[in-house]
Amino acid sequence: MAKVHNYSAGPCILDESVLKEAQAAVGNFDNLDLSLLEISHRSKSFVAVMDEATALVKEVLNVPEGYSVIFLQGGASLGFLITVMNLMRENGKAAYTDTGAWANKAIKEAKNFGAVEVLGSSKDANYNYIPKDYTVPSDVDYFHCTSNNTIYGTQMKSFPSCSVPLVCDMSSDIFSKQVDISQFDLIYAGAQKNLGPAGATLYIVKDEVFGRNGRTIPAYLDLQIHASKDSMFNTPPVFSTYVSMLTLRWLKANGGLAWIEAKNNEKAALLYNEIDRNPLFEGTANKVDRSNMNACFVLKDEAHKEAFDKLWNDANISGIKGHRSVGGYRASMYNALPVESVQVLVDCMKALEKTV
Ligand SMILES: *Cc1c(COP(=O)(O)O)cnc(C)c1O
Repeated sequence: MAKVHNYSAGPCILDESVLKEAQAAVGNFDNLDLSLLEISHRSKSFVAVMDEATALVKEVLNVPEGYSVIFLQGGASLGFLITVMNLMRENGKAAYTDTGAWANKAIKEAKNFGAVEVLGSSKDANYNYIPKDYTVPSDVDYFHCTSNNTIYGTQMKSFPSCSVPLVCDMSSDIFSKQVDISQFDLIYAGAQKNLGPAGATLYIVKDEVFGRNGRTIPAYLDLQIHASKDSMFNTPPVFSTYVSMLTLRWLKANGGLAWIEAKNNEKAALLYNEIDRNPLFEGTANKVDRSNMNACFVLKDEAHKEAFDKLWNDANISGIKGHRSVGGYRASMYNALPVESVQVLVDCMKALEKTV
């Protein structure tokens, strides 16, 4: 079978070695002659998985003391609500940036429970840039931002300083580069963009957050409960947590975030250089705000669409069709995508140029 160059936006590419090990564990896990999928989450073998996954998150991301790491179900979409429940006071107020579809959904969820001040919105330009000219007020319960806008291909390169708790949806760029965790009070991320298969959602929460807003929190939404039970309040997403652990082992063994950041920079530079050089293409996001994870671009002349689509299809490229709200193409270059796959796409773009 020919190698497929997988640019899927999520769920997405995982390293081959991780998939092989996951496959083996589904057959016979930990020499138990049982599948990973048919043992108790409270068994010694699985508790060891949860412990290692949690420890690796802390180690790889350099999480300081005073933070809890939790694996839950529900996706980042439940994270929108968990944020509100754990950080907003009754009838409270929060500030949000509006940088795309996911940010918007987070805002909608918060509006169900309190007031939302939208500080910066790039909706006027179909979310093709990251708003920066705002100050975070000091009278809100927290400030929420989205570090990488998966659909529009924009990424925050730094975070505003603020005197209120900082919350970030890092679903599509966590573990892609080094970041100072101590700036944040709460980070959440669905596993399926850079960490593992869909199912688990990672929470990194400052313990100071616990109990601070004084509201009654439904048990499953209460991060303090999950932290106090080491992610075993109820059945955790066992398979996704296990594969996330394997991915973190892979990341650590290869050199951790410094290694992957350099690799991701190299891949992004390779593709964006071609987008900018090739007269047939143009990027859709503001250059300074371009995402290293999701590169969005269009053909300047749609007349070349058929020819270009044939070129990349023939080259075994998969998953680069743009999101319906942007159109064109989106190349998602998550951690496990090799630089060779990016070269194959660039070669297709060069080949198209030669045909006209
Ligand atoms: C994919 C994504 C989500 C949604 O995640 P689910 O796990 O499907 O709920 C939220 N935010 C961002 C930035 C995403 O990329």
